[in-house]
Amino acid sequence: MYHPPVLKNRRTLLERSEKFISDTYFTDCNLRGRLYGDTHQLTSLSVSQTAKRISYSEAVQQNFQPCKVGDAFGSTWWTCWFKVVLKIPEAWRGKEVHLRWESDGEGMLWRDEQPVQGLTKEGEKTSYILSECLKQNEPHSITLYVELACNGLFGAGQGSFIAAPDPNRKYTLQKAELVVFNRDVQELLTDFEMLVDIVKMLGEEDQRGYQALFTANEMVNLCDPTDPDSFSSARSLAQKFFSQRNGQSQHIVHAMGHCHIDSAWLWPYEETIRKCARSWVTVVRLMEKNPEFIFTCSQAQQFQWVKNWYPGLFSRIQYFVQKGQFIPVGGTWVEMDGNLPSGESMVRQFLEGQNFFKAEFGQYCKEFWLPDTFGYSAQLPQIMQGAGIDRFLTQKLSWNLVNTFPHNTFFWEGIDGSQVLTHFPPGNSYEMKGKIEDLIKTVKHNKDKGRANHSAVLFGFGDGGGGPTQLMLDRLQRVQDSDGLPRVNMSTPDRLFSELQAESGLLCTWSGELFLELHNGTYTTQAKIKLGNRRCEALLHDVEVGSCLALSQNVGFSYPTKQLQELWRLLLLNQFHDVIPGSCIEMVVEDALEYYKEIQKTGSRLLLSACHALRSTPWMEVGSGTAVLNTLSWDRTEVIPGCIIILSQLLSTALVKVPCVGVASLTDLAGSVSKVTVTVQADGTVRMENGLLQAVLDRMGHLVSLLLVQTNREAISDGCFGNQFVLFDDVPLYWDAWDVMDYHLQTRKPVVDVIKPVQVLSSGGLRGSVTFSLRISAKSSITQEVILDANCPYIKFSTQVDWAEAHKFLKVEFPVQVRSSNATYEIQFGHLQRPTHRNTSWDWVRFEVWGHKWADVSEHGFGVALLNDCKYGYSVHQNIMTLSLLRAPKAPDANADMGHHEFTYAVMPHAGSFQEASVIQHAYNLNFPLRLIPDMNNIRPWSMFTVSSAAVILETIKQAEGKNNSLVVRLFESHGSSVLAVLSTPFPVKEAWHCDLLEQPNYSRPAEVNDSKVSLTFRPFQIISLLLRIF
Ligand SMILES: [Zn+2]
Repeated sequence: MYHPPVLKNRRTLLERSEKFISDTYFTDCNLRGRLYGDTHQLTSLSVSQTAKRISYSEAVQQNFQPCKVGDAFGSTWWTCWFKVVLKIPEAWRGKEVHLRWESDGEGMLWRDEQPVQGLTKEGEKTSYILSECLKQNEPHSITLYVELACNGLFGAGQGSFIAAPDPNRKYTLQKAELVVFNRDVQELLTDFEMLVDIVKMLGEEDQRGYQALFTANEMVNLCDPTDPDSFSSARSLAQKFFSQRNGQSQHIVHAMGHCHIDSAWLWPYEETIRKCARSWVTVVRLMEKNPEFIFTCSQAQQFQWVKNWYPGLFSRIQYFVQKGQFIPVGGTWVEMDGNLPSGESMVRQFLEGQNFFKAEFGQYCKEFWLPDTFGYSAQLPQIMQGAGIDRFLTQKLSWNLVNTFPHNTFFWEGIDGSQVLTHFPPGNSYEMKGKIEDLIKTVKHNKDKGRANHSAVLFGFGDGGGGPTQLMLDRLQRVQDSDGLPRVNMSTPDRLFSELQAESGLLCTWSGELFLELHNGTYTTQAKIKLGNRRCEALLHDVEVGSCLALSQNVGFSYPTKQLQELWRLLLLNQFHDVIPGSCIEMVVEDALEYYKEIQKTGSRLLLSACHALRSTPWMEVGSGTAVLNTLSWDRTEVIPGCIIILSQLLSTALVKVPCVGVASLTDLAGSVSKVTVTVQADGTVRMENGLLQAVLDRMGHLVSLLLVQTNREAISDGCFGNQFVLFDDVPLYWDAWDVMDYHLQTRKPVVDVIKPVQVLSSGGLRGSVTFSLRISAKSSITQEVILDANCPYIKFSTQVDWAEAHKFLKVEFPVQVRSSNATYEIQFGHLQRPTHRNTSWDWVRFEVWGHKWADVSEHGFGVALLNDCKYGYSVHQNIMTLSLLRAPKAPDANADMGHHEFTYAVMPHAGSFQEASVIQHAYNLNFPLRLIPDMNNIRPWSMFTVSSAAVILETIKQAEGKNNSLVVRLFESHGSSVLAVLSTPFPVKEAWHCDLLEQPNYSRPAEVNDSKVSLTFRPFQIISLLLRIF
């Protein structure tokens, strides 16, 4: 066929092809307008609405009312069940027939009592294939149900998607009909779309782009939309183009389907269960049609939900896992926050996750998978390796606001030196669409060009679920090996990482934390969730220690394995990366707090029954006394407050000594220590002393002076005040609950309005305390009790805040007399340093950082530590130590943090290093109060374990998984030193093996045991777990 030559006008040729497939312009005559053929009305459509999420069997029993396209339903969080009765016309024999369904909300189609496919317009799933080629013997009359959740993929935010949900939104049905689908038109549309995108993405510099341009143009010439017989010649041209192959050196893209489903975020946990089902049933359906399709899927909790609620779907998933298409990844219970959970919580994320994957699918995950989490602790590489994983995938650091992270493929090294191979998909997304743009970005943005020739492309709608579509698969299928584009393999994480490992010789290493330069407000937002997490972590620790004490002494004691697993799983669920950070809607906060309440209630009961099981031992008996339990691995001598009866004498406080991991009677040792004195001085200030510290507070509660008596060293900077509350304007650029911006620091206002000046509450003895109140604003106030206990090296600030602010940030400052270019912060099983200066952009962007129970700033010989019992946000700039207390964001929870708060922090000046001063142990003491056990007489103090080295902390004692006669004890080196330590117990050690964090013994590595002593060698920050048989 002769055409006049193409004129040199790139724009008209390109736009001609675009218009030929446009769904907006010229659909009367273009190819897009031919995608659907004849339509046919449904036989009948009716609906039943419910405020609850009910099962299919319950739903079909409801009363259904007739309804029609155009009707609106809801409101938000309701569910509509539609009954769809249809009859396919006989005349459509040989055609592909679809049910076309377009509505607001998230739909799930049910057929023959089973969920069969998601129908969510936002996720580009608007049609269900009734027949690929209608035959006479196929059923023509069919009844289906559509379960429509009245919320979008991203919830129901009012105005902006992250705003608080609009409870009154209505959800409209826009289309429900039978239609003939022209598959050949769809195939050709996809060819065109890919060619047009190649033209656009390769630009004017690339000759391959022009080849695509002329190919597409010639296809338009050949293709008559009204004549399907003309399509094949156009398709051949496209195929010829796509099959022109690359050279051998081309970058290789490992395409994997994915569907990021936040376990709760802008919707509650309960809706996530259905999101999983909608997304995954669609994946399974795609797998049935596309045997090469690979899908990666994380979060054991979500699998557990689907197993419970959709057992039929779950067994299909198990089938495709066995086939190697549906690939569990991550190894954790949920995709947790990477900063805030404790070390032991991180371990349990893997323990519960990996055990689930092994039990249900017969395999452990090989990759840690956390694409959306807000930063990654420098202890994670060691924890991952302990859980059998040495590969890590994320992309979140591409969100950094200031500094561009320099690598996409690299080795990540933790504080102990453990290294894991890490990949950030260079396309900077976990929800690509299989488009040319995704492939080009992946190559272009790869910062390890020449070092790593393989990258991941994760495709599928995400965050609110949705997942991949057939169209995404069709796109990728066309460009598997097409010159000018990276090669595309449908691949698995295992293949990707194996390739990367095989060619890792040139890869760089990044040492330390992966700090996200964004979302730093999440260390503070939703203070009650943070409090719940810290308290429940401590309680479950204590329940396990108490239960192991009971187990060792009382053969009749039944270790609460099942209950503990349930409580741990609730705690782990709340550590999800939009829950513990506080970036969720109010409904999620309510659920989370309910779960913490459940953990507290059941956990306290379990702890008490474990302690009571100790009553018939050689060192305990039933009686009218009170015993005290110390679950930590060092002896403690502390003041216990409250009304306690000792020897028929009512004491308000007592000083008790309790051995490590043990029990003692509540005997008051008050005579043995110097008492606290509290004195009002002539100038109105109050002096508090206990022989270790001498503190002076002014009438506003400022810490004017804090003297370390032993060295006569002042801790507070000259002319400055410690315990200075400060309020900041806190208006981020967009992500309200998430972000605190650098410029908030310029709005600092000290809180100076006194409601009630300092007055003495307890003038001394074992405990001295003063109290005062400050006004933050007309609506908010602080009341504080400043406490100094006998024998205690820190001063405590027990704080109550009534908080009713909008976009304000409350912090407390301690300007200290210490000069150091680095401050130290506790992290999981260790600590790390961050600069106190702002030399470079990498330094100053850390204006708000996270830490766990303590932070410290020290110079040689002296330092100050700031401890807390439920806070995570810190900063140390120059010599000012700041603890972040409360925020007041309004989205996505309009009521975030409003109300009453109680928390405690403490300041501890010390001689020597923080290691020498036992700052770490004191921060534990503040968080793990001694537990009183009523109705018990202790005959003699008793201790189950002792550790010889002050550097080594015995963090965890629990029953081994699935082994009734064995314990797991987990210790870690906390100082950052190489040490030898001996773990001793009164029991003869029958067996002791080193084990990993999944509690699998390393039979080639028996622990060195001598009678009842186990000798251990630690590297800095090393975690050691032992499997012990001692009874
Ligand atoms: Zn997420």
